[in-house]
Amino acid sequence: MESDPTRMCELLVGLPEVNVLSIDDVVGDPLRVHIEGRSKRPGCAGCGVFAQVKDRPVVELVDLPCFGRATRLIWHKHRWRCPESSCSTTSWIGKEHRIGAPRMAMSDRAGRWVTEQVGRYARSVNEIAVELGCDWHTVNDTVIAYGTALVDDPQRFGTVEALGLDEVLFARIGTWHRQDFSTQIVDVGVGQLLDVVPGRSSVEPMVWLAKQGKPWRDQVRFATLDLSGPYRKVFTVMVPDAVQVADPFHVVKLANTKLDECRRRVQNETMGHRGHKADPLYRCRRLLTKAEERLDEKGREKLIGLLKAGDPKGDVATVWKAKEAVRELYAHRDPDLALQWVTELARDLQDNDYPIEARSLGRTLKRWKHQIAAWHAAQVSNGPTEAVNNLIKRVKRAAFGFTSFRNYRIRSLLYAGKPNWDLLKSIKPAVIPENRQTPLISEEPANESATVEPTATGAGNVVVVGDPRRLDDADVVEHEAAPRRTVSSPIMMMIRRTLTVCSTRQWKAQSAPKAGHPHDCQADSLKRNVSLPLLYR
Ligand SMILES: [Zn+2]
Repeated sequence: MESDPTRMCELLVGLPEVNVLSIDDVVGDPLRVHIEGRSKRPGCAGCGVFAQVKDRPVVELVDLPCFGRATRLIWHKHRWRCPESSCSTTSWIGKEHRIGAPRMAMSDRAGRWVTEQVGRYARSVNEIAVELGCDWHTVNDTVIAYGTALVDDPQRFGTVEALGLDEVLFARIGTWHRQDFSTQIVDVGVGQLLDVVPGRSSVEPMVWLAKQGKPWRDQVRFATLDLSGPYRKVFTVMVPDAVQVADPFHVVKLANTKLDECRRRVQNETMGHRGHKADPLYRCRRLLTKAEERLDEKGREKLIGLLKAGDPKGDVATVWKAKEAVRELYAHRDPDLALQWVTELARDLQDNDYPIEARSLGRTLKRWKHQIAAWHAAQVSNGPTEAVNNLIKRVKRAAFGFTSFRNYRIRSLLYAGKPNWDLLKSIKPAVIPENRQTPLISEEPANESATVEPTATGAGNVVVVGDPRRLDDADVVEHEAAPRRTVSSPIMMMIRRTLTVCSTRQWKAQSAPKAGHPHDCQADSLKRNVSLPLLYR
């Protein structure tokens, strides 16, 4: 049993080698515990003479709740100075990392605790902030600082045998809820999220793969993807030796999507409107996408009857058969048979007599036949990638959506990237920039984004992508297509304003404009300078 008051204070505050100076107890406020480090008088780094206390700066740190009450640690630091007048060392502050890391608004132990709560258990930052009685930013900055250190641990993942890429909707931005995507890079073998990069083009994953270095890329044997052109390009260029495998789920999904498209087109052509409750094609929409072997006798009869009634030319039935033929592909495991099957199916479906959706499906199957048949040999699927996406969705739900890509990336990686949580006890928090205005994905953060330099000859050229410092020696990647022309914001604003002003003013054109009205003057001058038909081109 401990009865020494100093030792009791030490035990209650939970920090060794610390003097508890006083405790502020104001009702309604957090409990304020004043402490100081019990450090010995240091020697000057320049001359070795014992230092003198210059002053006592005070720092307030958010700490873990004490007996259910929000708590602040008021840390009375020591600023030392050298008493020697001839010495060039002026003053310095003693560092005590066990109490709080430099520039952190939270004590060290609270910082590690919040990182685990938010990162490992996907709790919301707001929830933690309420619990600790502090600001949202205090918690978030801390999670990002400790989280970045954990996520950037070079031991987090080693060599990867099967690599998967998939897209996830990251945010809806602006008035028009424009969708911004991110690409997940996943180790399909163990279901670990390796990283998240902005966008769903081929550039960012290529830059990421380039950064891993050639020896790492040479270890990748399988590359799984949905039927996405940019991702195929990523693998073709960056890991040319890996076997590309199209994910079975996405192949069947594509067939089902085509079937759905066909049903809606026929519905519109025969009835002249979208599906209503009583329309035969609308009534069989679920039966159509159901697997054939799962239809019982009653369901099959119903489907045939409804198709007879609603599909006079037999288009929907044709695409339905095509869908079943695609599913048939996965009924066996023979790679040669699969390639033969998919080749023949693709050729048959492109017959001119078939509905447009079947032909489109046929073209896609033809383009991807090797990747589709590769599944039968490799037996890897993008399933773990989808599982990781589910984890990310959980993080997104907890946060009620993200606007900062940095926060999204770190928190996704903490939750789904399998960081080594044992390191949390000892890891040093990363220094994060003071500016909290992390740019959105769409605004292309300055040194985060890759710069694509198109050459004069246009698309298909091999150019170096990205910041040269981030690439290893011979990393060249293929430039996808002609670069998208970006319109600088003032011009864009002028065009938008002109369009709005012109369209709202059109009806006013007949009546005489009010003289001297600023809007009319602006509209007139803009009308003179910008020719409207050009804008619509
Ligand atoms: Zn000195």
